[in-house]
Amino acid sequence: MDTKTKDVGFQMTTEIKQLQRRLDEIERQKNEEVLTLVEILANISFFGGTKKVQCKHAKNGQCSFFFLLNEAKGKIPVATNCRIKECGEPASIHCHLELSNITCSFCENYKGQQVKSKPTNIKSTR
Ligand SMILES: [Zn+2]
Repeated sequence: MDTKTKDVGFQMTTEIKQLQRRLDEIERQKNEEVLTLVEILANISFFGGTKKVQCKHAKNGQCSFFFLLNEAKGKIPVATNCRIKECGEPASIHCHLELSNITCSFCENYKGQQVKSKPTNIKSTR
């Protein structure tokens, strides 16, 4: 083997090592991403579940706060026929959002509700 071939062989070994390192790095990052995702989803299910339990608009597994026209059923997969007994709207024209911990976790209405429900005579801590 002449020196040129040896050099190429050495270079290839080095490149393979570098490639292996990069692959390991990617794999490590992916593992961290998966863990982060699991953590986010766990928080969503926990806080979403808490919100769902406490929300006065959560009725019979549906959200009574949002009233959607039937057209939404084709476009939004979680829009389903009204099952809310207390709902006075004609069932033929509307539907509601199916509740899940995820939809509840992202619902802004819950926050608004908390602010609204604060007693007005509460003393400022400042
Ligand atoms: Zn309804």
